[in-house]
This record gives sequence, C-alpha cells and structure tokens, in this order.
Amino acid sequence: MTTDVYKTTCCYCGVGCGVIVRKDKQGALTAEGDPDHPVNRGQLCSKGMNLHHTVNDRSDRLLYPQMRYNKQSPMQRVSWDAALERTAAVFRTFIDKYGPDSVAIYASGQCLTEEYYTLNKLMKGFIGSNNIDTNSRLCMSSAVVAYKMALGEDSVPGCYEDVDTADCIYVDGANPAWCHPILWRRVEAAKAANPDLVLIVADPRRTDTATTADIHLQLRPGTDIALNNAIARVLIENGDIDIDFIHDHTEGFETYRARVFQRTVAEAAAICGVSVEDIRRTARSIAASKGFITMWTMGLNQSVAGVHKNLSLISLNLITGHIGKPGSGPFSLTGQPNAMGGREVGGLATLLAAHRDLKNPAHRLEVQTYWGSGPISATPGLTAPEMFAALESGRLKAVWIIGTNPLVSLPDVRAAERGLSKARFVVVQEVSRKPETLAYADVVLPAAAWAEKEGTMTNSERRISRLHKVTDAPGEALADWEIICRLATAMGFPGFSYKSPSEIYDEHAGLTKGTNIDVSGVNYALLGSGGTVQWPLPAAGASAASPAGPGGPSTAALTPRGAAFGPAGTPRLFTDRHFYTPSGRARFHDLPDDARGETTDGDYPFILTTGRIRDQWHTMSKTGKVRKLNQHIPRSFVEMHPDDARRLGVAEDDLICVSSRRGEVVVRARVTDSIRRGVLFLPMHWGKILQSDLNRANNVTKNVVDPLSGEPDFKYCAVAAEKYVKP
Ligand code: SF4
Repeated sequence: MTTDVYKTTCCYCGVGCGVIVRKDKQGALTAEGDPDHPVNRGQLCSKGMNLHHTVNDRSDRLLYPQMRYNKQSPMQRVSWDAALERTAAVFRTFIDKYGPDSVAIYASGQCLTEEYYTLNKLMKGFIGSNNIDTNSRLCMSSAVVAYKMALGEDSVPGCYEDVDTADCIYVDGANPAWCHPILWRRVEAAKAANPDLVLIVADPRRTDTATTADIHLQLRPGTDIALNNAIARVLIENGDIDIDFIHDHTEGFETYRARVFQRTVAEAAAICGVSVEDIRRTARSIAASKGFITMWTMGLNQSVAGVHKNLSLISLNLITGHIGKPGSGPFSLTGQPNAMGGREVGGLATLLAAHRDLKNPAHRLEVQTYWGSGPISATPGLTAPEMFAALESGRLKAVWIIGTNPLVSLPDVRAAERGLSKARFVVVQEVSRKPETLAYADVVLPAAAWAEKEGTMTNSERRISRLHKVTDAPGEALADWEIICRLATAMGFPGFSYKSPSEIYDEHAGLTKGTNIDVSGVNYALLGSGGTVQWPLPAAGASAASPAGPGGPSTAALTPRGAAFGPAGTPRLFTDRHFYTPSGRARFHDLPDDARGETTDGDYPFILTTGRIRDQWHTMSKTGKVRKLNQHIPRSFVEMHPDDARRLGVAEDDLICVSSRRGEVVVRARVTDSIRRGVLFLPMHWGKILQSDLNRANNVTKNVVDPLSGEPDFKYCAVAAEKYVKP
C-alpha cells in the first residue's frame, strides 16, 4: 500500500519533537519519531506515539459553524459568513459603545506562531486593546518576567545540547520524566555516559524524576526560595562563586547577598523541611561542576512568588558564572508546545510583538507603523483570570475563546463559570465538541486540528520548526489563521488578506529585524521539511547587533554575539557575557522567601498542590480520546501520605472529599509515602464526567496570583480532606 510521508512537529509539550506522519490510501495516519530531528533523534513519548489517533478519530469533532440568536434560543448550524458577520457585528457594537477594552481574546499556547501573530495584530493594533491573553499565563508568565529582570530579555540562554555535557543538573519544581519525557531521556543518557553527573531534584513529591536523583530535596511546598538562598549562602561562604564574573558582568550582588545571609542554613533547612547536610551536598555538587544547569517549570512558575522563585534559581547560575557556556545555564521548560512562539509575537496581555516593551512609546510606534494600524494602547490588558472576573462584573462584554478549556484549567473555576454565565457574548473556536465552554457559546467556530493545518512553533530551546498539513479538516472546519483573518476582515480591518501562513510568518520575521530575537533570516523555505532553526537568525547582511529601540542594548555590546550565528541559528546566548539589560550586566535581586498562596488552619490543614500525569495532556480533549493513554491512570485521584491516611481512617481507593474555601473534589485515595506528610496532590486534567464535575481539581484551587507576572498559584492552597460519605 502506498503512503504519503510528512515531517512535522509534535503538538503537545515544549520539548518539540520531530514526527514523521504517514498517510495511507484510505487517509489513515500513523506517527513515528523523526530520526533526523535534533531534538528527539527518532524517539517519541507515549503521547507523541499516539498522536495520529487524535486525528484519525473524528467522532468528537465540531464540523460546522453554529450560533444562537439570543441566550434563550437553541444553537443552530449556520454558514461561515453568517457566523463571522454576526461575531464581527457584535464585537463592533460593543467596541463602539463601550470602547475597545470591552472585548477580549483568550487563546492558547497551542496556537501556532502565525495564529498568535494575527490575533495580536488584530487586538493590539486594530481593535486597540491589549485584552489578549492565553493559557500560557497559567504556565510560564513568571519565567518571562524573571528572565527580563535577570537577563534584560525573555531569552532562554541554553539548549538541549548542554544537557549532554553538564555534570550537575538541578531540577526544581518540575517532573520532566513525566511532563517532558524525551528531554528527560537525554538527561538519563547523559547520566549513563557520565556516572559523575550529579542529578539534584527539589520536589515535595518523590516523582519519577526524583527517584533518579542523587539528591532529592523533598521540600515543603512554597519553600523553594528559602532553599535556593541557603544553597547560595553555602556557595558564597565556601568561596565557591565566580568572583570575576560577578564583578565584571552582574549588578545587585550585595543586595542579594545580604538577603541570603539573613537566614542561617539551619534556619532555612527547618523552613524547607530538608536536612542541612543535603543543602551542603547540593552546594558542593554545584561547586565541583564544570557545567551546571538549572531546570524548572510549573513548580516554580505557578506560585504567588513565581518570579522570585525563578530568580532564586537563575541566581545560582549567576553566582557561579554558569551561563553562556557549554553545559551550563538556567533552563526553563515550557509546558505548552508553542509558548515560546507566543512570546515572540507578544502573545500575552502584558507583552508587545518581537519582544518589544509595551511600556516603551517608541516600541509601540514601531509596531503600529509596521502594521499600519491605529495607536497601540500603553495599558496592559486583562490577564486570563482577570478576564473572567471582568465578565462577571460586566466590565467585559464579549470574549473569543480559542483552543483552550478555561472551565477546567483556570484556578477557582467556579468563579470562571460565573464569569461566562454573565458574559453578553461568547465565541468559542474549537476542534472538539467536548470543552465545557461550548455550553456558554453564542457562536461556535470549528477549527482544524494538528496535521490539518500548517504553521510554525518554537520549542523550549528557541528552536523553530514547521508543522505540515497532512490531511483535510473534517466538515467545514478551517485553519485557525484563516478564521482569524476572515473575522478581522469582516470587522472591516485591512492587513489580513494573507494567502498562506508562510506570508504571515514573513511579516512576523520582518518585524523582528534588528531585535534580540531577530528571525529575519528564517522563512518556510529554510525550514523546509523537517528543518529547524534556533533564534536569533538574522537575514544575511542584516545587523543582529542593532538595538531594539531606546530601551535596547548597545550595538557594541552585542557584536561578539553575532559571531555565534550559524546556518541553523544560535544554540546558545550570552556567550560573550553581555546581557540585554541597559548596562549589559545580568541582575541579582532581593528575594524574600515567603511563598505561600494561602494560610492553612484548623479547618483547612492540608497544603494542596496540583500537577500533570504522564499520559494526559492538559484538559484531555486530545489525549482523553486515546484508549492506550487512558489505561495509564484511568481516573482522577488524590495522593496522601500513609500517616495522614491513618489519621483520617482512609485506605487506598476510598472515596475522599477534598474541600477548600472555594469548593470540593471527590476522588479516590492513593496512599503513598512518596508525598510529604500534610501535603495532598491532585492531577489537573479531569473536568466534567457525565454530569459530575467532582473530579475537577480547580474546584478547590485559589485565584491568587504572582503580583509581578499575574500567574496563578496552583501549587499551594489550603484544603481539608475526609472520607466521602454519600449524602
Ligand atoms: Fe511530544 Fe513532548 Fe512527548 Fe516529545 S516529549 S513526543 S514533544 S509530548
């Protein structure tokens, strides 16, 4: 049987594995790892290996546009023109009557760069509001802010190759063995090749990642800053720091030093619930290493002190000078497949395209001139949780939700439900009929899925790769970029008549010219089939070293970095030890160590932390369709320590009610000594099953956010637990 063969990219996590998709004569797809891809070299994790099932099974797909004429009338099938004209008319009416900030877009880190770009151009340039946020707000917005504060730019310094040569890897607040499996296999391979490589993991749970560690720092939730400050103190006290690097290339060290010396190591150990000796062993391992990588993700980002937690880890690289050289660097892992691409085009309510600064009038002028749009507002837009609160209060009238499922993923999700039920107009652009938001929609726009559309994504190491269209979308579903452009045109805006995603990419690349993320040398032809590039890669003859604007770095500061460009871009940043701050120096910060999202008390004595499991992705709209993936862990659960279970009279598999000041969850108990006493863990994936939403972890989480990043805290809320008794 003959088959067509396509090279594309996995659409799940930020590792960004290359996938070969084969389509047989009947149109059925199969997926396998691309052996030529530099990220995964032919490997795929369980989710990637089963990608094709999510496209082959179309039983849950939205096939036609639908709308209802008022909140009381039923949903009915309509033409694309009717759905788009109605949406455009309602949005225009609200904008004219209440101003541009009366409408919002809530999109997804799974959007492709071209989709992100056009959405931002529409909302920020033409509608004139910054009310566009994505679910990346829930994922990595703390890392964005921390990189800017420490390095002057939201730039991941290193690359996966560094893993191969590091001899100390410290993972804090991440479980890559389950959530970034192919990258973790690379860490395991590095460990197998170099038995002296020391793996350190900080996590309140003994995860699969922690079980492979040489040192597992099983800290209390929320105490990462105290831990990292204590490690820094030991390094400083022992003289195991890079004095020359600190002196020549950083600023703020004395302030940082004063803070980390406010607690003794013993005091910090008591706060964290780890031993003094383990803190000292960690510091000794870092001191002895020639290559030191720090890695993190949601465990640090999703916190009321997410930015400071990030900075506490980045600071360990800075005091030891382990940045900008092979085998070293701070390395935030992105959860979403294209969170990085979204950041490139300014895909959050607080960002501007091409890593320009929303607060900088010259940067706003550059972008609006390039777009030929009206003035870009200087006021940051509503973040994801703020949007739903604004819908509830009536300040926000309409929201367009694209490729995300906020009624499972937002914190304190019942508040989000109240917001949607009060919304005057809700548009849902979706692939599947499953997401809970559809029940609130006034207009439903059916979208193409992975392998049914083309575009680009950028992975955790700044690697841009293409996704190819392998098969047609079912029914009348359209590629997201096409829906966005048709709606923008229906609203009467010029500048959205692209013929292909390639044209959109070229426009985006042109806007990055001369910035620190210059991709003017990248286009679809270069990426070809299976080709990848790490940004920046300026066009031949372009000056990569030119400043981004008044707030940008000096040309002189960046010139040496230009030498690192190769035909595949820039694997490693800051090799010249010049950073993107105005002074060219990396910055230390004062890092107070309290990071509790809520206070526990007699009524709510447990700390709840939420997270992901190996074989499910986010709210399960794709992975939940795959029988093999559902077999791994078929239902939700709560993890609790045997001592806590004994005290509550709970046995394995008992039904447990976990309650907070917001709501409750009823799931089966998993009694395990892999979790700390006094801490409970709930997976975040499950939403409504039949008519019950009692599996939904975010019934109980709290909508409290980091004041610097707006990222919600999913890792620390106060809950009670008891054996469930049917009413
Ligand atoms: Fe896809 Fe991530 Fe698995 Fe790679 S590691 S196959 S990108 S889910």
